[in-house]
Amino acid sequence: MQDKSEVILKLNKLKSVSGSHSPSIETLKQLIPEIEIEIDACFLSNPYATDFFMSCLEDELIKTGKLREILEFYPPQNRDVAEYVSSLIQLPTNQIFIGNGAIEIIQAVLHNFVSKKLLIVLPTFSSYYEFIKEDCEVVYYQLKKENDFILDVDDFLNFVKTNEPDSVVLINPNNPNGGFFDKKTVVKILDNCPEVGSFIIDESFIHFAIENNDLINESAQDLSKRYENLIVIKSMSKDFGIAGIRAGYAIMRSERVNYLLKNGYLWNVSGLSAYFFRKYSEPDFQRTYEILRRKYIAETRQFMLELEMIKPNIKVYPSKGNFVIIELLNGITSRFFTMNLLLNHNIYVRDCSDKVGLDGEFVRVASRSFDENRKIIDAIRIVQNL
Ligand SMILES: *Cc1c(COP(=O)(O)O)cnc(C)c1O
Repeated sequence: MQDKSEVILKLNKLKSVSGSHSPSIETLKQLIPEIEIEIDACFLSNPYATDFFMSCLEDELIKTGKLREILEFYPPQNRDVAEYVSSLIQLPTNQIFIGNGAIEIIQAVLHNFVSKKLLIVLPTFSSYYEFIKEDCEVVYYQLKKENDFILDVDDFLNFVKTNEPDSVVLINPNNPNGGFFDKKTVVKILDNCPEVGSFIIDESFIHFAIENNDLINESAQDLSKRYENLIVIKSMSKDFGIAGIRAGYAIMRSERVNYLLKNGYLWNVSGLSAYFFRKYSEPDFQRTYEILRRKYIAETRQFMLELEMIKPNIKVYPSKGNFVIIELLNGITSRFFTMNLLLNHNIYVRDCSDKVGLDGEFVRVASRSFDENRKIIDAIRIVQNL
């Protein structure tokens, strides 16, 4: 690349118009064609799952010509897609709401089932405070850096008691730091929050969280039978590596699903997303996916161990997601670190300087494929020493 300062100028401009989400690779490449991104460690997905879904698409839709039907005709309606999910997760269809990405569900829930006061844990996924209605008050529970951003459950429950929010959001594992509670803890929290009208748990990264040696993921979905106030939101973008088709679902009590469907969302699921959900419900698909999930988790654990060994200028915080936040200790800024990785190593990581509740110099790095992770480690080793 000839003139890096010009590229940096363009990047700064782009960042300033992208708001609280980092610009996508597509946007970056369109606006700054001279930029070369070899590895996107900003996006938090399992790349092996994307490969697998691509192979399904190719064999079943493209080679057979069936893609045309998906593009030409109306897709199944929300309830029909919910049926696919229902058969897999063994919960009734009338408790399942399908979204055009989890983002659409977050918006629907915040606008319909959150009334006056919402409690959010910081740092967080920004949409939860960005999409609230104007008359809704937000109270923030700040995770403490001294505590490695791990949530102290009793302290948190006291905070809930004192503040009396009508709604609470927990992201499990949390984005951006990867903090996680096991199911027993989730039950303890729900047991202690019966006055909270909507208890939202976002499990968009639950497939990556392992709490036992069997690598079994323990979603809180089935707890919806016991807790009427529970709303579990699940994006498919990250664990299945398919952010482009916009697929997500939520579990909530049936009156709430009915209410949403009466007010819209009839055909909000695209044909490709409906196709994904149909595959998702098939045992064969689940079996292959499970192998790829475990492979990716094993590689991700290894990647994190190696990152932790890089000394002396970075601190890697504990995470049960497929990403980590890294604090830069030697006085260089997250901006400099991110630019350096991008312009000299063609690796894109998330500069967290705009993350509310994450003060200091932090970047977030996602685990990618095995070979890509090697390159990320080598590059970070160099850049942290500059
Ligand atoms: C990415 C993300 C979402 C949004 O997912 P989409 O399905 O792509 O809309 C929701 N919640 C969290 C915590 C996320 O990280």
